[in-house]
Amino acid sequence: MTFEGGDGSGKTTQQGILADWLTDRGETLTRTREPGGSELGLELREIVLHRRGYIAPRAEALIYAADRAHHIATVVRPALERGEVVLQDRYLDSSVAYQGAGRVLDGTEIRDLSLWAAEGLLPDLTVLLDLHEGEGRGRLDAARDRYDRLEAEKSDFHGRVRAAYLELAAAEPERFLVLDARRAIDDIAADIRDRVEQLIDA
Ligand code: C5P
Ligand code: MG
Repeated sequence: MTFEGGDGSGKTTQQGILADWLTDRGETLTRTREPGGSELGLELREIVLHRRGYIAPRAEALIYAADRAHHIATVVRPALERGEVVLQDRYLDSSVAYQGAGRVLDGTEIRDLSLWAAEGLLPDLTVLLDLHEGEGRGRLDAARDRYDRLEAEKSDFHGRVRAAYLELAAAEPERFLVLDARRAIDDIAADIRDRVEQLIDA
């Protein structure tokens, strides 16, 4: 299962609440994230976030893909093979939204690159915490870097990211659960639990 949404949409919080609930039900979990879910990934995360805005968009996309390839091969697949439930903060939909729509690269190419990196692995469920424009922590430091500023001048970076997320969810309604991130934490958590229960019982 993966969690997606803008910065400050509550992904980490909801991942934690769901993790506690699944653990109480006796499931064994791996909680992880991208970028930075492996040792190599932590180094790549440093590079990509510290130099954010100063890396050419295609290079940025490839760094995220490298993080993903190593993470899936060394952390996620082994966990799935052990029969664990994997809860992951951000995955390929982030790349389509941020590197694709955000950095104005071709979304289909970014998706293909991500699927190649991940050997085709797709989550059973993706929770999209939809953040309305102008909200969330991330908004505060939006446009702080060079490419963000350049893009912001042309059109709104975060608006494009959000639109791309909603488009992805509309294209795959069976994989996505879209929830309004402005709702109360407990209400959102309850909706996620309902959907996960259906998945587990299916
Ligand atoms: O969610 P997390 O805090 O790990 O994300 C770190 C930063 O990297 C965020 O500002 C997010 O917007 C950005 N990011 C990105 N492209 C991705 C994944 C994350 O620009 N594919
Ligand atoms: Mg987070």
